[in-house]
Amino acid sequence: MTNIWMPFHDESDIKNEKVAPDRKGCDNVFENFVVNPYGHLLSCCGLTMEYIPEMKIGQVESLNLREAYTGQFRDLLKLWIWLDGTPYVLEQASERAGISLELVSPHQCSICAQLYQNDKLRAAARDLVLENAEQLLLRAMIKARLMGRIPDSVAPPHSKDVSRSME
Ligand code: SF4
Repeated sequence: MTNIWMPFHDESDIKNEKVAPDRKGCDNVFENFVVNPYGHLLSCCGLTMEYIPEMKIGQVESLNLREAYTGQFRDLLKLWIWLDGTPYVLEQASERAGISLELVSPHQCSICAQLYQNDKLRAAARDLVLENAEQLLLRAMIKARLMGRIPDSVAPPHSKDVSRSME
């Protein structure tokens, strides 16, 4: 398949500066639940997952997989990425933070890493998800139920729980 080039090192002189037209949500997060060679359980298998600490849920041998999987739905930023995709989240966070960022690559995982690694963007994204918690949770619960990603027996997270988890 044709994919977008993504440089991982500063010395790379190959760039793909075209912005990807596709702005749908990232279905990799919550769809893939992987274990790396160090035993870390990860929320996705995106190309930059190792550079995003929040994608690491914990050591696989010490976790209950069902609880670890469903617990991810309490992370509002992941829910937002799942619903709207990283280009949209980055755009909104950049606007809120008042910064313009040159993309390393238009690849959604590269954008994800840029978003998580920039303190100002993270702070802006945190504010945005807390402000929009109710509608994000509602949209995410609908999508999760439609996709069968969350069993009926799991209660939806309360927005206060989510707020606490982001502090
Ligand atoms: S965009 Fe982010 S959450 Fe989605 S697969 Fe890439 S690294 Fe994972």
